[in-house]
This record gives sequence, structure tokens and C-alpha cells, in this order.
Amino acid sequence: MPSVMLPPARPVVRGAPPKALLGLSAAAFDALRPPPGCAYRDLFSARLRPDVARWATGHGLALHALKQLQRSRGGRSEKFLFGLGDGYAVESVLIRRRDGFTACVSSQVGCAFSCRFCASGQAGLKRNLTAAEIVEQVVHLGPRVNRIVFMGIGEPLNNYDNVLGAIRLLRDRRGLGFPTTGITLSTIGIPKALRRLREEHLGINLTISLHATTQAVRDRLIPGAARHDIGEVVTRALSWADRHRRKVTFVYLVLPGVNDSVADAQRLVSMFADKPARINLMRWNPVDAIKLRRTEDRMLSFFRHRLDRAGIPVVVRDTQGSDIDAACGQLWLRDLGGNRASDR
Ligand code: SF4
Repeated sequence: MPSVMLPPARPVVRGAPPKALLGLSAAAFDALRPPPGCAYRDLFSARLRPDVARWATGHGLALHALKQLQRSRGGRSEKFLFGLGDGYAVESVLIRRRDGFTACVSSQVGCAFSCRFCASGQAGLKRNLTAAEIVEQVVHLGPRVNRIVFMGIGEPLNNYDNVLGAIRLLRDRRGLGFPTTGITLSTIGIPKALRRLREEHLGINLTISLHATTQAVRDRLIPGAARHDIGEVVTRALSWADRHRRKVTFVYLVLPGVNDSVADAQRLVSMFADKPARINLMRWNPVDAIKLRRTEDRMLSFFRHRLDRAGIPVVVRDTQGSDIDAACGQLWLRDLGGNRASDR
């Protein structure tokens, strides 16, 4: 008797999540044959026109996913807490500048890298944001935004495809047409991802959170990046700068007794003299329950002077928005205790 082949067990179909409206490329939008009078640009509005919303839901597209839970104002910054469809929440910050507004957006829910100076990393990584969820933060922050920085919750290069996907959606001339020169990706510098980024045809700006001049200190400050050789991080970032003919910014948070020795200043000079790099010296913006001290003015001046003398472009910055706890992740942890918004 011939053996009977049973058909392979069918995977359980759970139903794919609906495609997000703000995740549509212009080509995918065209393929859905939008009605006359509905342009691709119309999708990028915080308040969708009723005919656009009707058309989108008729095609099974999920409309906006973010729900504004809180908005707090302080000085030049406004902080927004957005609830996501699955109950998590992320923050975005709108910062007023003399010539416009900067949107500081999140790329992940939580973060895997556990930087000692950051509240976002203390609760671990929950999930990646989709490209649509990233774009939507910019849309919600409004049409006055003319710069975007990936400096909110999450490590953008640890969500490479969605972050790059969001940048492509944002810069599409038929949509928002956001200039890539106004977009800054701020990262701890994952070497493998930097290698990929080097080959992208994108004129974005790159900022590397360095914070140390030795492997041992960096491993202490960024435990999640202990696998990343500090020398390779610097080399890959400088290689990106060479390839794109621009400078890469290295951020150095000066922490008393941790990375502020004379030897540290000298090593910074050796690493970056005559290189396509600039240094941002940062002062610590205190976070509840994280025991690090603020550095003094004289230490910042010492570092600035040493770098300046070596011809390395350097600026000193206070972390933005300390008046409303706008360092990445603080609001998320403080208000939600690291839990889903719906668990409260
Ligand atoms: S500083 Fe950035 S990479 Fe480090 S834990 Fe916070 S969000 Fe993650």
C-alpha cells in the first residue's frame, strides 16, 4: 500500500497587521489608485482630510498610530508622550531654535544598550518602532519642524531598516520633501551598521556618542556596546565622513572622575587631530536615580582649550531641555515606570 503523505501542517495564520498609511512609499500609494484630489503629500498631515481617511480605511490601511498622552512645556522645549497601538509609549521633543524647530524623535521602545547616563536604557528594549511610527512623530510635531534628530528613546542603528525607511519616506519630494541635510542620526556607533550606512546615498549628518577614550571606560558607560571595539567605532565613523565628504560629530559627555583626566584630553587630541571630525563636549543633565555628577565649567574649558589648540573644531553644550527632563528616556521611565501605558 502506498504510504499516504499527509500535507504539511499549515502555519497558524494570525492575520497580518494592517499596513500603516504613513509607511506607504509614493509608488505604493500610486498602486492603490487614490481618488482624484488625493495627493501623496496629503498623507503627511496630523489631521487627515475625511476623504483621505475614508479612502485609506477602505483599503485596509491603518491610520495614525500615535495617541498624544501628555504635552509639557519648559523653556525652549516641548515634550510629547505618545501612546502606541500596543500600549507602549515613547517620547518626542520639539525644540525651538532661532531659525526653526528641531524634532527629537524616538526610534525604539526602550533600548538594549543600558548606557549608565540614560534612563531609556535602564528598562531594556521592548521593541523597534516601525518606519510609520517614526514618521508620525515628525508629522505630529508639526509643519514648523525643519530639523530632525534621532536622539530620543532607542539606538537608531539597532533598528536600521526602519530608521532608514523612515528617512526615505520623510525626504520623498512628493511627500514632506524633508532635506536630508536637516536630519541627524545620533548613535553609539554599531560598527557593522556604520559600514552599511557608509554605502547609503544619503546626505544625513552623523553624530557618535563616544564618551570615552579607552575601551574600559566605554564598556562601563555603555555596557551594551562592550562587544564594539572603540577603535573600530571611530575608524568606521571617520570612514563614513571621508566617503560623504563631511565631518562626523563625536559627542563626549564629560563626567568628573570618569573620563575627564588630562590623559583623556590628550587621547582625544590624538584620535581626532587632522581628521574629518568635530567634538561636542556635553555637560551631564541629571536623571533621578542615576548617580553621576555634573562637571564643572573649568573642566569643560580645559578640554575645549586642549582640543582647540590642536585645531579640532569643538563646542560645549549643555544637554538640551533640562528644564523639562528632556534627556532621552526620562519622561518615559518617570511617568510609566518602564511599563506599558495600559498597565498603569
Ligand atoms: S543613550 Fe541612547 S543608546 Fe544609550 S541607552 Fe540611552 S537610548 Fe540607548
